[in-house]
Amino acid sequence: MVTPLKTASARRLPGALLDWYDRNRRHLPWRAAPGERADPYRVWLSEIMLQQTTVVTVGPYFERFLTLWPTVTDLAEARLEDVLVEWAGLGYYARARNLHKCAVVVAESHGGRFPETEAGLRELPGIGVYTAAAIGAIAFDQPATPVDGNFERVMARLHAVEAPMPGAKPLLRELAERLTPNHRPGDYAQAVMDLGATVCTPRKPKCMICPWSEVCAGRIAGIAESLPAKSPKKAKPTRRGTAFWCLNKDNDVFLRRRPSSGLLGGMMEIPSTEWREDADLGAFETGDPPLPARWRELPGMVRHTFTHFHLELRVMAARIEKDGAEAGGVWHPIANLGRAGLPTVMTKIARHALKHG
Ligand code: SF4
Repeated sequence: MVTPLKTASARRLPGALLDWYDRNRRHLPWRAAPGERADPYRVWLSEIMLQQTTVVTVGPYFERFLTLWPTVTDLAEARLEDVLVEWAGLGYYARARNLHKCAVVVAESHGGRFPETEAGLRELPGIGVYTAAAIGAIAFDQPATPVDGNFERVMARLHAVEAPMPGAKPLLRELAERLTPNHRPGDYAQAVMDLGATVCTPRKPKCMICPWSEVCAGRIAGIAESLPAKSPKKAKPTRRGTAFWCLNKDNDVFLRRRPSSGLLGGMMEIPSTEWREDADLGAFETGDPPLPARWRELPGMVRHTFTHFHLELRVMAARIEKDGAEAGGVWHPIANLGRAGLPTVMTKIARHALKHG
């Protein structure tokens, strides 16, 4: 069900929100000052980093990338390995590889300038419907509608859409697009994002201070906080495996690079067995260690959650005398492990091994 807003009220919504934005906009490192046009490189970089990650987490990564690679051409000229190392900890590593690929295409095929239209932006690696709309709106002031979770929540409440997610997505998109103004569309998009992040929050929306309070159908019906409605969640499966923490006599740890496609593709890893759902906790096999050694099991377990599954890893540890480049890996100094570009789950394994080894 959708509660239609009166046309006259709906017409006033963008203006009321823009007035609110002018007084309450968040200060974010990638945002242009009021009245200034945003730098497309900064907008693109921040939007890629912000996918599935919070503003607080992204801040330091964003600053570091800009220091190392101030322009898209600088990023294009960087080595992919260096980009992956700096990205480590942000998760979803395919994004980092696409980020680099996209920088190369912009630098080599577009003279270092991002295309200005949503269609042109969508042709670039790693830029989907949402990101193209976000860059189009924020960097080029196009009347595009970047519909993310914030947008969906605000639209579901404003129009009292009770249909559950994800089925309600197309309707929420349509409602969001209908409201997008031709005047200051970039500021309007950021205003909806800010409203969702600071006022129309998932829990306890602050309707008392909301510029849309008077017309909001969800608030009027007293159902705002319960929207958007969710379909019951499917339980995530648990996969299990065994990780191998191996040190040599110089206190270097044995690491391998994962295959370039698939989960954590191209990232460095502490070797492990395949992660499988059909392994039985407490009885799952040791698997094939990457090096012959006297392996011993460390107490406890490493747990990590990916988007689609939980992971439980038993950790085996060994110390060996020789230090050749066996099994396609490298020896990396423990003292410098922070610079190895390990993804979060591997950092957890290292911490566990250092604590219990
Ligand atoms: Fe969200 Fe409340 Fe504003 Fe409606 S009135 S948009 S529920 S904060």
